[in-house]
Amino acid sequence: MDYQALAQLLFPDVTETPEQLEERFPVRNVPEGAVITRMAPSPTGFVHLGNLVQGLTSERMAHQSGGVLFLRVEDTDAKREVPGAVEVLIDTLKHYGIQFDEGATHDGDSGIYGPYRQRQRASIYHVYAKRLVSEGQAYPCFCTEEELSAMREVQEANKETTGYYGKYAMWRERSMEDIQAQLNAGNPWVLRFKSMGNIENQFKFDDLVKGKLTITENNVDHVLLKSDGIPTYHFAHACDDHLMRTTHVVRGDEWLPTLPFHIQLFKALGFKLPKYVHIGPLMKMDGNSKRKLSKRKDPELALTFYKAEGFPVKAVYEYIMTILNSNFEDWRRANPDAPAETFKFSPKKLNPAGSLFDYAKLTDVSKNVISKMTAEEVYTLLTEWAQEFDPDFGAKLAADDEFATKILAIGRGGKKPRKDLAVWKDAKDYMGFFYDEYLAEPQFDEKFEKATVIEALNRFLEKFDITDDSGIWFEKVKAITTEMGFTTDMKAYKADPTAFPGTVADISTFIRQAVTGKTNSPDLYTVMQILGKDRTVERIQATIAKLK
Ligand code: GLU
Repeated sequence: MDYQALAQLLFPDVTETPEQLEERFPVRNVPEGAVITRMAPSPTGFVHLGNLVQGLTSERMAHQSGGVLFLRVEDTDAKREVPGAVEVLIDTLKHYGIQFDEGATHDGDSGIYGPYRQRQRASIYHVYAKRLVSEGQAYPCFCTEEELSAMREVQEANKETTGYYGKYAMWRERSMEDIQAQLNAGNPWVLRFKSMGNIENQFKFDDLVKGKLTITENNVDHVLLKSDGIPTYHFAHACDDHLMRTTHVVRGDEWLPTLPFHIQLFKALGFKLPKYVHIGPLMKMDGNSKRKLSKRKDPELALTFYKAEGFPVKAVYEYIMTILNSNFEDWRRANPDAPAETFKFSPKKLNPAGSLFDYAKLTDVSKNVISKMTAEEVYTLLTEWAQEFDPDFGAKLAADDEFATKILAIGRGGKKPRKDLAVWKDAKDYMGFFYDEYLAEPQFDEKFEKATVIEALNRFLEKFDITDDSGIWFEKVKAITTEMGFTTDMKAYKADPTAFPGTVADISTFIRQAVTGKTNSPDLYTVMQILGKDRTVERIQATIAKLK
């Protein structure tokens, strides 16, 4: 067979050579050890935690080493493409602190290794396709769907591995005349790789996450170019990651089964193999067993979920770090205020089997993160969230920033800040009572007579002075307690609860409920200071009136 002639027959328009492409996309001039990596998503419109895990891993590896992170859009499957998906992806990842140095952007490409959208790279793939054909390493296959399914049926009946290989590779050794006849008839064809691999052969391979792997050679003649001339993932991966000078391929471990083919393909093309970082899946506990997070069953897989719940970006970022690198938490304890980016991230610390996603843990991390923010920061983020997801609350927050910030400052700062908020969604329940429209009607403990509650509230009103400091304020609450025969001695009450109608805690609760509508609230003295004298008094009076 004259492979040169075949190459010319299949790709008459391709005049560029691989050597010219080498010049067009030169080796990057980066410091020794710099990691060049990428995110290579398919624009399906669904951005999920897995993207973030992969994104953060590649982003850290690139930027920590003084390297480059670029975005390549893998749009070879036009059927799956959703309009606007690239923009959503860029925005979402940016929101989580992942910035690309080059690649696809909102308006076109940035960088000299483009185009960064695979459909626009068809002519580049064809250069390599032509070269492979001219070397006898690839060939056209004119099999129809029917022929392929018939082949599969035979293989299944014979209990053989299914696929296009060995004696089943019908077009592997066909003559020029056969090929020409098909082309003349205008029949569609795909380009297949002519595998020289043997499944009897194994070799060792080092993956940065999985460690040492034993790989079995590939013997399948996989498709390189589909009938529309667009490459498969495999072929595009080899051509693009070579020409874009990727040093590390960070991707999901669902690609491990085709890794043997990728290794083979890089070799056939004369490309240096990049390092691979195969990330295990994200899992969750379901009863007593672990399972992969699923798009269908788990709303928490989608990144939009975290935004709608109101997890601050920083919290999600910190949490992902804790599941990716087991030493992150220790580092965080030792460096409570250091920016997360100063942590030394290592792909080697990723769990090869995948990471366990624990919602409760994320919530804890988020509480911590929020507790360390300033009131102003909380105000800004909370208001932004509420304006989008709870516009009524958002409008109230925005209408008086000073008031809201004062509320959010309660218990903040100091060694042991309060941890009331895990997500912005919690905020209304926590602080809504400051706004009259959200004030709930108190439900007093039925153990106490209404008259008792009224008496305590009236006594409080008589003594209440907004200018009191918190010490005097509490002395007054204690005075009411004893005046009413309740006790301030919690030990004595515990020893004999029948000896008193109640304690200072009950008296405080009456007042708290009258002012906040709730049995739980931030520090009541401070609440009154923020509400001011008139609103505090009004609320207590209104409660008394309702009780009567
Ligand atoms: N488009 C592939 C995917 O979304 C990319 C895998 C890779 O990073 O190479 O899974």
